[in-house]
Amino acid sequence: MSQNLGTLERPLQVAIVGAGPSGFYAAEALLKQANIVCRIDFFNRFPTPFGLIREGVAPDHQSIKSVTRIYDRIASNPNVRYFGNVTFGVDINRDDLQQFYDQIIYAVGAQADRRMGIAGENLHGSLSATAFVGWYNGHPDYRDLDVDLSHHRAVVIGNGNVAMDIARIVSTPIETLAKTDIADYAIEQLRESQIREVVVLGRRGPVQAAFTYPELKELGELDDVDVIVDPADLELDEHSAAVLAIDKTAQKNYQILREFAAAAPSGASQRIYLRFLVSPKAIIGDNDRVTAVETEHNSLVVDKNGGLRPQGTGSFETIETGLILRSVGYRTVPLKGVPFDQRTNTISNVLGRVTDLKSGDAFPGEYVVGWAKRGPSGVIGTNKPDSAATVNAMIEDLSNLPGIPDPNRDPERIVALLRQRKPDFVTYDDWRSLDQYELARGAEQGRPRVKVTSVSEMLNVIRRNKANES
Ligand code: NAP
Repeated sequence: MSQNLGTLERPLQVAIVGAGPSGFYAAEALLKQANIVCRIDFFNRFPTPFGLIREGVAPDHQSIKSVTRIYDRIASNPNVRYFGNVTFGVDINRDDLQQFYDQIIYAVGAQADRRMGIAGENLHGSLSATAFVGWYNGHPDYRDLDVDLSHHRAVVIGNGNVAMDIARIVSTPIETLAKTDIADYAIEQLRESQIREVVVLGRRGPVQAAFTYPELKELGELDDVDVIVDPADLELDEHSAAVLAIDKTAQKNYQILREFAAAAPSGASQRIYLRFLVSPKAIIGDNDRVTAVETEHNSLVVDKNGGLRPQGTGSFETIETGLILRSVGYRTVPLKGVPFDQRTNTISNVLGRVTDLKSGDAFPGEYVVGWAKRGPSGVIGTNKPDSAATVNAMIEDLSNLPGIPDPNRDPERIVALLRQRKPDFVTYDDWRSLDQYELARGAEQGRPRVKVTSVSEMLNVIRRNKANES
């Protein structure tokens, strides 16, 4: 390492690709390093920062979103800059960042959906959770999604917390949703929704469900919604019973499920059915649109790792529906030029150090955090220790960094490059002015914010605000 790297005269220069929770926690951990002066530049695809907080966390979970205050503080550090509306692989590449920065962190999350690999997945009316959640949260890629809510029944596939979010949002009274920061167009469409019944399909049993009890419990707290569980679905095989005896999360889930099963339906106008041990086998359509899902009932068998996997019993059931919401997990999208492990669907890495796919050797100076590092698991806070661990590896590696000192590593040169390649890049002050605009529109309606959902409109608001200031 150059002797003065990480000092006032030659700060450590770090690029973070992606300004979601894992990226911000990495920045926080870097800024907390004693004895190291660090300059951090964020590059983010959308003008708006915060990734999953803005585009993934459910609109009725505002308290989770308050974590952005911490991210705001990090962004206010004079050694942190934000370049929004800049797409990695399009506007800037791995080579550019290698030229200008000592270390690069990929914090791009998991922006696509896992596929189930069954017939009919692509029919109209079969939507991934990625798309549907993005749609109601005003994600610019999904604002024009074809969401058909004209059917009586929706089927949600999967038993994780995203499945819970989706079942809840589709069943929540519109007056409640209209007070949140859900996208305006979603309010209008959900207001006309004909869905009265949501069927959630778990391929394994209640003990193996991936959801957690606060999210499960919330379903039972919705106004005018009956949550229905068949008591027969709660009868456990011996292996599940053994797991239940020691797994505290499963115990809490199971207790709530028993309460649902014991409650007599109140005749509420909406119903959520939680079904277990049912796998989708094919999505059936007519004229390219979903009409039903064919399912097979399962039993659980011990797999070679000692876990429990579902096995079809040969008993089939067809559930009629016009809307299928596939919530079976997210998937990281490979980045141009960055090694990607197709087996794990993550950026190839060992403990956060990006590695060559063939040799397994670490690339000096390249790192990964969050879902792109470990896969789509955990809550927002899980990213804090995860990012800190990668930053520890970065600090350990400082003595092995190549190409230092390098006169190209002048932070102003990246600004000159962006002015050429992406003149309408967005700074954190620009985002703040957009933020103020959204908050002010929200305040007029008694809502936390009204989101701007198209990139061109975001840029227009920022331009108008600048013109008004000058
Ligand atoms: P997840 O927790 O991994 O759940 C995925 C679900 O899909 C599992 O039930 C899985 O069943 C099922 N599945 C996978 N492949 C399937 C297939 N081919 N057919 C049928 N079912 C299939 O993923 P997630 O719900 O997308 O959540 C991602 C992460 O975000 C999780 O860590 C979650 O806790 C977190 N999150 C948290 C909150 C919150 O805190 N409020 C909200 C949303 C998300 P198997 O178990 O059988 O594989």
